[in-house]
Parts: sequence; C-alpha cells; structure tokens
Amino acid sequence: MAHIPDDAAKRRAIKPVICYPNNTLPAPPMALYRAARDSARKVDEAIVPARDARCFPVPAGHFFRITSIEGPQVGDLNLWHAANLNERFYSGKTRALHGTHLTTGMRLWSSFPYLRPMATILEDTLEWYGKDEWGGAVHDVIGTRCDPYTGNLLSGSQYHHCCHSNLTRALVDHTGLQPDQAERQVHDVLNVFMCTGFTRDTGQYFMKASPVRPGDYLEFFAEIDLLGSLSACPGGDCSSEHSSDTAACFPLLVEIFQPAAGVLKGWTPPPLNGYDGSHGIA
Ligand SMILES: [Zn+2]
Repeated sequence: MAHIPDDAAKRRAIKPVICYPNNTLPAPPMALYRAARDSARKVDEAIVPARDARCFPVPAGHFFRITSIEGPQVGDLNLWHAANLNERFYSGKTRALHGTHLTTGMRLWSSFPYLRPMATILEDTLEWYGKDEWGGAVHDVIGTRCDPYTGNLLSGSQYHHCCHSNLTRALVDHTGLQPDQAERQVHDVLNVFMCTGFTRDTGQYFMKASPVRPGDYLEFFAEIDLLGSLSACPGGDCSSEHSSDTAACFPLLVEIFQPAAGVLKGWTPPPLNGYDGSHGIA
C-alpha cells in the first residue's frame, strides 16, 4: 500500500458538502398537479408482458401510472421527447440533482442541451420504505439497465430479454426505426420498484428483493410530450439474478390519465434550458 500521510485522519474527517444544493430548483406546483389529477379520466393503458417492453405516448399535462399487478416485479423506464428522441431521460444528472433514489415531488430531467423536467413524480406507494439498514432504497437512478453485453462479458451468455434488448425491440415496434438506430436511443433508466444501494465496504452496486406488491404504483405528471418505454425486467423482483429466464417474472400495467379541460390553466411545459450553448467558442 502507498505511504499513509501523517494527517490522513484529519483529511478524512473533513465534512462533505452537497455537490448540487437543489434548494434553488423551481418547486413543482404539486397542488395544481393533484387538483388536475383529481379531475382526470383514464384514456389508455398498456400491459407490459414479463421479460418484454412496451412503448406508450403520454401528452404533456397528462399523467401516467406504473402498477405492479400479478406479483413483485421491477421495471426499467426510458423517456424521450415524443417529437425528438435526442431529448431523453438523463439518469446521471437526475441522480446528481435529487440523489440516488427518487420519490414524490422529484423530477426526471432530460439530456443536454435540453436539461429540463420531463416528468414529476406525483405519487409513490413505496415512499414508506425510506432507507433500510443496508442503505437500500426504492426507484434508483444508479443502475444502468441489464444488458446482453455485460452478461456476455461476465459469463459469455447470449441472452435476448435483458431490459436493454426489450427496450430496443419495443422502440423498433413503435417507431419503425432500424434495430441499430433504435438501440442507440435506449438509455440509462429509472429502475421502477427496484430496491438497490451501494455496499459500504466495497462500494458495489447491490440489489435485494423489491418490497413492491401487486397494487403498488408510481405515478408521474408528464411535463412535456413524452414517449415512454417500460421493460418488465427478467430479474423479476431482483431478489437473486437477472439476465436470464430463471427469476419469476410478472407483467406491469401502464395507465394514462387525461385531466379535465381547463384545470391546468396557466400551466405550460417547461422551457428548454437557458444556457446559451456557446461554450466560450467565439
Ligand atoms: Zn432489467
């Protein structure tokens, strides 16, 4: 091991500071959203089959709810601007702004150069879970998505129903894009219902059986016109393994709700990020 300096303990004892204090983020108008939700009626739904994915459009100002229906199951969520797939959910920046796991009142932010709220979490029936004794929590933005490349790297497998492949197939089916183009649009996810954290000793990403039960849901307000895609992960409740057909898997339900006309009066989708984009280039 390298030389340990005399003041090592003193350096370690320095208190951390939050990288991105988020108290200047505009607060979402939750009371307005809740009033709109109270007026809303269901206009569409999609069943996401186990070990597969489905795309679902959500117009700005509508709501979408992801529900566990037949058994404990986690879902991998991608979001794009419906008219511009280059604007997509930015898991890393969402993590930097809100922390490793999301719940009610937090927002899903879009990629550069757009960086604006795509969706706001309105309700989370698993909010009670909080942080467990291992530091585990629900709905993470720390995992990426299960994918066949990592599976191949670690075990030489050729498995076709990882979330990455499921999301790719769903986007091909929905948009008619060629598979290689669709694959490039698939991005790091919000792990809906998944219970995860980092081990304290090695800092490794861990998962454990999700506390989700049929009837639990996570509901969002769509800030802009969205194309969503949800994969019912081959890990099932992620209690043991993923990237195989071994785990018990269940479908997930996605429902879309439209608020009554006029209840969102005065609300408009958030503008594009205000940075001028010049990067100091003359
Ligand atoms: Zn997965």
